[in-house]
Amino acid sequence: MDEAVRAPLAKCTTLKIGGEADRLCHPHTVEELVETVDSLRQKGEPWFILGGGSNLLVSSQGFRGTVIRTTNLIEIKNPQPGVLEALAGARLPHLAKFAASIGLAGMEFAVGIPGTVGGGVIMNAGAHGSCMANILESATIFDSETGTLKELTKDDMQFQYRRCKLDPLKHVVVKARFRMEQGAAEEIEKRTKENEDYRWRTQPIGFPNAGSTFKNPEPQRTAGLLLDKAGAKELKEGGAAVSAMHANFVVNLGGATSNEVTTLLKRMQECVFKEFEVRLSPEWKTLGAFSEEELSIWRDSGH
Ligand SMILES: Cc1cc2nc3c(=O)[nH]c(=O)nc-3n(C[C@H](O)[C@H](O)[C@H](O)COP(=O)(O)OP(=O)(O)OC[C@H]3O[C@@H](n4cnc5c(N)ncnc54)[C@H](O)[C@@H]3O)c2cc1C
Repeated sequence: MDEAVRAPLAKCTTLKIGGEADRLCHPHTVEELVETVDSLRQKGEPWFILGGGSNLLVSSQGFRGTVIRTTNLIEIKNPQPGVLEALAGARLPHLAKFAASIGLAGMEFAVGIPGTVGGGVIMNAGAHGSCMANILESATIFDSETGTLKELTKDDMQFQYRRCKLDPLKHVVVKARFRMEQGAAEEIEKRTKENEDYRWRTQPIGFPNAGSTFKNPEPQRTAGLLLDKAGAKELKEGGAAVSAMHANFVVNLGGATSNEVTTLLKRMQECVFKEFEVRLSPEWKTLGAFSEEELSIWRDSGH
């Protein structure tokens, strides 16, 4: 296993913000992943599982504990017709393109989501009218409270919009099994490509970001629309700003701190509340030290 001490976390997140972790580990096998979490649990030391870091705000003060990054666990298998199995660190865009190439339909939605299988399951990641819950059959989870590996079905995980029953501070997604429809590879690849192209046209590129900042309060009333109508595109706080292209995206213009981002999030929340009396809940997870006031932004968000 690769290990580093006092490792900067900004490099491991798409927002490019975050101080140092005491220790950063990159397990190469499922056994190493499970052993690392289990040994930290037994010693009572803090740990955090990191995937692609694409839905995460890390404190600029860093994290006093061990971050375990899954990005070496990328194996994908097609053990029987209609089934894909992928380890936690496999990238969703890669998985979507692989599924399309072997004529498996259902994963086209995930091609523009720059996360991993583990993060995708925890967040019930979705786009283009579909989400992980629609194709997931089961997942292998390491339960750090009992120190055991178990197989959970999709029903066990109780998926909802951008969340499921699993707590990433206790449950480690090790592997996922997807059930998909067999189809013509050419057509599935075409749909996958269309979804990918749509991303390039509609999302900010150039500045680091972490995708959608807030969850949609209702399917027809998206957070982006409410923020746009409330004038949030004007908002900026230090190196952090609301994207001029998409009002639900926060971009790091360079050197933004986590505190600048949380201040901006609060202002975004306030301007939508003032205009529509709707309280937006952040989609992002957090890692590291944040003040009570900063964490109040996540109140009632199922964080
Ligand atoms: C440009 C851009 C576009 C995006 N578009 C979309 C979109 O269309 N739809 C969408 O849903 N999301 C989108 N996202 C957000 C993000 O990509 C998804 O939420 C993704 O599923 C997060 O996966 P990750 O591996 O990066 O998770 P991370 O950010 O690394 O972690 C997120 C949470 O998952 C936990 N976690 C990660 N891996 C594991 C594991 N193996 N076991 C247990 N817990 C784990 C972490 O502890 C953390 O709590 C976008 C992000 C960006 C930057």
